[in-house]
Amino acid sequence: MDEKREFKTEVKQMLDLVIHSLYSNKEIFLREVISNASDAIDRARFESVKDAAILEDDPEWKIKLVVDKDAKTLTVVDNGIGMTAEEVEKNIGTVANSGTKKFLETLQANKEKLPPELIGQFGVGFYSIFMVADEVTVVTRRAGDPKAGTKWVSKGDGYYTIEPCEKAKRGTEVTMHLTAENEEYLEEWKLRKIVEKYSNFVEHPITMDITREEPVKDADGKDVLGEDGKPVPPKVTVTEETLNSQKAIWLRSKSEIKKEEYEQFYKHISHDFQEPFETLHWSVEGQAEFKALVFIPKKPLWDMFMQEQRPHGVQLYVHRVFITDNCEELVPHYLRFLRGVVDSSDLPLNVSREMLQEAHALRVIRKNLVKKVLDTLADIQKKSPERYAEFFASFGSILKEGLREDFENSEKIQKLLLFNSSALDDGKTTTLEEYVKRMPEAQKEIYYLTAASLEAAKNSPQLEVFRKKGFEVLYLVDPIDEFVIPSINDFQGKALKDISKGEVDLETEEEKKAKAEERKAHETADNAWVATLKELLKDQVKDVKLSTRLTDSACCLVDDEWAMSQQMQRIMKAMKQDVPDTKQILEINPDHPLIASMRQVNEKDVKDPRLATYAKLLFDSACLMANQPVANPVEFAKQVASLMADGLKDNS
Ligand code: ADP
Repeated sequence: MDEKREFKTEVKQMLDLVIHSLYSNKEIFLREVISNASDAIDRARFESVKDAAILEDDPEWKIKLVVDKDAKTLTVVDNGIGMTAEEVEKNIGTVANSGTKKFLETLQANKEKLPPELIGQFGVGFYSIFMVADEVTVVTRRAGDPKAGTKWVSKGDGYYTIEPCEKAKRGTEVTMHLTAENEEYLEEWKLRKIVEKYSNFVEHPITMDITREEPVKDADGKDVLGEDGKPVPPKVTVTEETLNSQKAIWLRSKSEIKKEEYEQFYKHISHDFQEPFETLHWSVEGQAEFKALVFIPKKPLWDMFMQEQRPHGVQLYVHRVFITDNCEELVPHYLRFLRGVVDSSDLPLNVSREMLQEAHALRVIRKNLVKKVLDTLADIQKKSPERYAEFFASFGSILKEGLREDFENSEKIQKLLLFNSSALDDGKTTTLEEYVKRMPEAQKEIYYLTAASLEAAKNSPQLEVFRKKGFEVLYLVDPIDEFVIPSINDFQGKALKDISKGEVDLETEEEKKAKAEERKAHETADNAWVATLKELLKDQVKDVKLSTRLTDSACCLVDDEWAMSQQMQRIMKAMKQDVPDTKQILEINPDHPLIASMRQVNEKDVKDPRLATYAKLLFDSACLMANQPVANPVEFAKQVASLMADGLKDNS
């Protein structure tokens, strides 16, 4: 006689919630059932170490999916530890787990506000079956118990029945009768997909009988016909296939794993066709317990460029069960090029998104993972700089984002940066550390210049005085540099200074003194000339100043110390951002013959019409030198042509 019983009230409430699709993601019911089966096998395996008798005549651990399309049932069979009648009652009939009670309390307190994913936070895995099934039958027998088993049936309506039954082998069979809208879970492809996605690395084989029908052909490849003249029925073969790879490679010890195995696994999870640049495999015990297998790819993977494609970053597993591959709490954004797996022992399997954000265990893992990756990179940089340069060429731009994102590790990231520089040949790069070592004593700051290209940087007039003084200037030609480098305040006590902004003061006291005398001679004339230029170019520039950074060129454009640079404005505009047009400062070189001659013209007659024309030309040429467009190129070309013609006339 089966006994009809009522679930405890809290289970009833739970069922209600689950059935009304609180899970955002129905297919995980299979993950829950498989993971219960896998745990049950783990427990049986553990007990069998002490008591081999419980293995009975079924020594091969296995989880099998059985589909009955006519009955519309999916059964998950395991040969794990099984349950006694009391255990069934305790584990499934009631809420054994205090988390569930806590969940219900939270639920009551919050009523409708609760996000659906929250349900997964508590141990309610088994009940998720009712999202897809309208009846569940559990037939189970405790390993080592007499041959009688227990049958438990529920329609998820608040009641269940429990009765003794026959069961020849140990273990549990969970049979789910699928509702009409969930019949897709009877399809081979669907089950394969779910197993591959969530349970691929479950250690035990998850198998399924696969039925194939093959038309019967003769030697010539023609259909064999029956007596009625029609093709004979196809040949049906049934083979049991294993759906999961079972290879929890990260759990194995490093020394046992061959390079090819790592490679294969990397390719499997990254979809990369090349081998990884670097493989990091380590485990942590103590404060946090986890195992990690993380790869640095050689080149950016295609999914990094697809906005709509969720990147397959580092996957989070809990006890070999896949949880998510999109966990921001696990890997910071600036290390998003990493691929791999972290398997934690500290998180519950039913961890929800909300819980991931809160989980202390994840914070510990993240910290450890970041340290491991940054230290590994530092090590490669030290031991083989050329190899490191390859990495930096691929992922340097992304890594740099860490300067703004991760202040705690900013110093380590600073050391990992590579720059082109005025002191090096093309193609060579330097670290900040090397730069500082090369600094002459008189140099107080680390100088850099941002530019659209290496060519533009090298030809920049702003470099002149630095060249003359023998001060090295870093060329920042990666568009991201503008955003991230200013967040480095100083490196080894040396401030970083953008030489295209604000004042540049490189002169020694003696030089200043000598210059001052020389300047004094035409101070008034200089001031008048600057005032004229300011007036003539008032629509184009914010200010005109005598330059201390030019030695060869007549003029250049610079930004205010705190202004957004032209390069940055271009980037922002390209990103469709609203950028106010900011005017720049025109610096003129008082020692340049052209500037000196114009000063003389200005001294003679402030109204001389040539001054207006030349002022415009001066400004336009400064724009060209800064790689900025000239407002009216046709006009510019005409004026240059006319000047050239004048020049030739004088010579003829
Ligand atoms: P959790 O797995 O988080 O404890 P579940 O609701 O999924 O929560 O399962 C409740 C309990 O039922 C499990 O802890 C386990 O004791 C028992 N159980 C479920 N499935 C099986 C199984 N296949 N074999 C043995 N015990 C099982």
